[in-house]
Amino acid sequence: MSDLLTELHIVICIFMFLLGTCVGSFLNVCIFRIPANKSIIFPPSECPDCHTKLSPVDLIPVFGYILLKGKCRYCKKPISVQYPLVEFLTGTIWLLIYLRYGISVETAALLFLYTLLIPVTFIDLKYMIIPNGLVLTGLIGGIVISVYHIFISPFSLYQSSSWYTPFIGMVSASGILFIIAVIGFLIYKNDGAMGMGDVKLFIPIGMILGWKLALLALFLAIVLGGVTSVVLLILKIKEKKSAIPFGPFIALATYITGFFGNQIISWYFSLI
Ligand SMILES: [Zn+2]
Repeated sequence: MSDLLTELHIVICIFMFLLGTCVGSFLNVCIFRIPANKSIIFPPSECPDCHTKLSPVDLIPVFGYILLKGKCRYCKKPISVQYPLVEFLTGTIWLLIYLRYGISVETAALLFLYTLLIPVTFIDLKYMIIPNGLVLTGLIGGIVISVYHIFISPFSLYQSSSWYTPFIGMVSASGILFIIAVIGFLIYKNDGAMGMGDVKLFIPIGMILGWKLALLALFLAIVLGGVTSVVLLILKIKEKKSAIPFGPFIALATYITGFFGNQIISWYFSLI
């Protein structure tokens, strides 16, 4: 690569990280307001304790928190570490997607999907729900990718040029999870671990990743969730009866699959 291209690449890397932290700042608003059924646009950000409207300096992602030493400028109450964490995480994910797929349609699709899964993760961890608004937002992205795949050019993550790939994706993993949820409901009488939110979440994931990667993501999510449940039980952090949220595992599995899924699948088939 010439010097100019290398420099341009570094500039784009920094830009992606910083833009990601700004998006993360907005995701924090979503994480706090969506479960409370509040608007994510109005009113502007304020301290949850003293309700003072925050100044632009307070709102600088990650660095605002460091400058304020984790305390509100006005009432000195501690600010949740979740704010800088979500901002840093989003910036890192944006940077990694660019490093993996460069400037491409895949990058655009994964920026959308991975970003959406951040509020899904944090809201599910806190409230054990996956809001329908987030699933519907995901569906819009899924429709855009499907239209691109059918009418413009085959979407490379699908590894297929069939027009129906995103539609099989829509029902494959979510369909299997739906059956698991119904069986759980019949056996445990409404106490099954799988919620309908998890089933619905796999509809946009399947449309954006295609059916092969969606099934791999479901498999990985079940493995990761299962291993974590066993560890939490052994460490006695969780009781046997209490369910753990599945959304964070779906997000993590989707991240792994979006980055390496097709390599994992071809590696697996080279073994058998
Ligand atoms: Zn305050």
